[in-house]
Amino acid sequence: METTSKQTAPTADLIVVDAKVTTLADNGRDARALAVKGEQFLAVGDESEVMLFRSKDTRVISARGCRVIPGLNDSHLHAIRGALLFNLELRWDGVASLKEGLAMIAAQANRTPVDQWVRVMGGWTPFQFIERRMPTVAELNQAAPQTPVLVLFAYSEVLINEAGLKRLGLKPSSDTARDGGCEFVDDGAIVTGNVAVYAVIAKLPALANFDDRVNSTENFLRELTRFGITSTVDAGESATAYPDDYKPLQLLATNSRLPVRISNFLFAQTSGTERAFWEKWTKEATPGVNRAACRLGGYVLRGGGEVMVWKAHDYENFMAPRPDWDASVEDNLTQVVRQLASHNWPIRMHATYDETITRILNVFERVFKETSYRNRWAIDHAETIKAPNIARIKAMGGGIAVQDRLAFTGEMFTERYGAEAAAEVFPLRQILDAGIPVGAGTDATRPTSYNPWLSLYWMVTGKTIGRQQLVSKDNLVSREEALRLYTVGSAWFSGEENVKGRVAPGKYADFAILSDDYFTVGDEDIRRIESVLTVTGGDIVYAAQPFGEFAPKPIAPVSPVWSPVGLFGGYHQSVGGASAPWEDANAALIRATQQTAAPASAVTL
Ligand SMILES: [Zn+2]
Repeated sequence: METTSKQTAPTADLIVVDAKVTTLADNGRDARALAVKGEQFLAVGDESEVMLFRSKDTRVISARGCRVIPGLNDSHLHAIRGALLFNLELRWDGVASLKEGLAMIAAQANRTPVDQWVRVMGGWTPFQFIERRMPTVAELNQAAPQTPVLVLFAYSEVLINEAGLKRLGLKPSSDTARDGGCEFVDDGAIVTGNVAVYAVIAKLPALANFDDRVNSTENFLRELTRFGITSTVDAGESATAYPDDYKPLQLLATNSRLPVRISNFLFAQTSGTERAFWEKWTKEATPGVNRAACRLGGYVLRGGGEVMVWKAHDYENFMAPRPDWDASVEDNLTQVVRQLASHNWPIRMHATYDETITRILNVFERVFKETSYRNRWAIDHAETIKAPNIARIKAMGGGIAVQDRLAFTGEMFTERYGAEAAAEVFPLRQILDAGIPVGAGTDATRPTSYNPWLSLYWMVTGKTIGRQQLVSKDNLVSREEALRLYTVGSAWFSGEENVKGRVAPGKYADFAILSDDYFTVGDEDIRRIESVLTVTGGDIVYAAQPFGEFAPKPIAPVSPVWSPVGLFGGYHQSVGGASAPWEDANAALIRATQQTAAPASAVTL
């Protein structure tokens, strides 16, 4: 057994027994029990040893023989923006058929106020549907004849119904339509150009009410804990202003015990003003300060990225050709990297393609040398990286954060670049063998779902959500390796690999009891795993049956009242053939409305 202190015989606040604990500790051994005091693990080992720390006040929970893992850490999640928008969004994450997806839109359209939208903002792929196709504009019109609807797929395509097009006032002559691909069909539109896709999304109204924004943030963080996530590194946010849009999170960090630890990176908001942005924030902000009142490493600004300069953004749109940067990118990037490096800020940089990684590394090599930069830096995504650039990153001491974006768009990649090129993507084994720090994650909430189990499935099987074998077998990793990347591996990206990501004395007491044993279930069942008890810093932040009695106090009712989250929740576990749980809830809402004979107004629902 290992403990933090043997002399003073401290007592535990919480003990978990009858568990199969994957510790990922240096000794590599699994344990049967763990003890927590305050925010840290006190002891990990056999039951009899751990029970020595029990006092009359210790809460003891039997894990019922279930698998326990260190809390998951998504090292690339757009959590702060995802949280602000969560209550506004209808999530198709996990929905098994397009038919059900469209029925959800129809049900939501009936309860959405006229000045709002039904919005599906990514996190899904057409290949998860039994129909294996995108919706059509005509189907969106049919599902919502009066209410504006916008459906985003992976920053690649936006579908807008007729009511939505009227609301936007988008015409063939307008700038957005001219700049990008914009096809007007069935009185709605399909928008495909990257700039146009971003421009259209930016037109949708945000949640205006501050209390709603706080409620949305709380609901999103709770939803993350449902899957065993206890930490995330926020990779910066487009269309999210610092510090104003970060105030709901700051309020929670100040007033409550955050269920998920958040390290965040600042993100240049507007093309053309990046230099001024970084000059301002490297002067006014200080990385590394914990802004959470009751959580170690609870809410900490870490550095700058993933977008430092908009010109140097290689959009991961596999439905379009690879973006080719103009010759001015190096100068623009050099100025900004010099600014961050000379202030010794940690840096992370979005890069999808090997070709653009080459150009980024050219700039990094020069500027890091010139500024004697010594801090942590990382490339994000790196889906098509090749051996020479892997070697360069290793030599320069950088990290790589990987995600499951290709699990959602791999079929499109194969169609554009062919099977041979597809077999070389996501060379995770090569990256690990090079000895580079690697973190795992999702890039949710738009290109992918935030469900970490889809990403673990992807790393272990190399299969897309649509079950195409994309990654070659020699680039797959074991379940333990994948879990290591999703815990202690991700912790490197916030400089916390020594304090979290393992179940060991002295480490942050972050762990999850799983619904199914990750190490023994079949590959396909990895996708269905959820947490049944999530603990962050010793606090139970989520509990489901059979541990429901330990659940934390419920969040205030979802607001606004018409929020899709109130009806559909978040991620859907499809229930083969049976009617979805939301259908029952919707029927009950409709009955309640009819019984009270209220006018058919969306807000009364
Ligand atoms: Zn990115």
